[in-house]
Amino acid sequence: MKKTRIYNVEGALLIVLLQYDELHDKYIEIYPDLTENPVYTSKGNPIMLTVEDACAFGEQKDENERLIDCSSCRFYRQMPNTLIGVCINEKKINKPV
Ligand code: SF4
Repeated sequence: MKKTRIYNVEGALLIVLLQYDELHDKYIEIYPDLTENPVYTSKGNPIMLTVEDACAFGEQKDENERLIDCSSCRFYRQMPNTLIGVCINEKKINKPV
């Protein structure tokens, strides 16, 4: 059975696979493809990875830092000790139709 870690990301459960890394003697997280299969919080905000390429709605959080990925965007709310976070940009909310 594969080892997993389950995160409760603002009301959404996200299952992340863990893979043993012999070189560093620790487990590393293998993240699902959240672009291909988006997951939303209970408020409809998309869960994103820190390293995801910045989208067209992103805005730099620091004028001295280029907008490259979600981690450099002012709408990104980072979770501690993982590459998972939440995009709080209203333009990205998943609204029911
Ligand atoms: S945090 Fe949201 S708005 Fe910012 S780049 Fe990522 S997806 Fe786009």
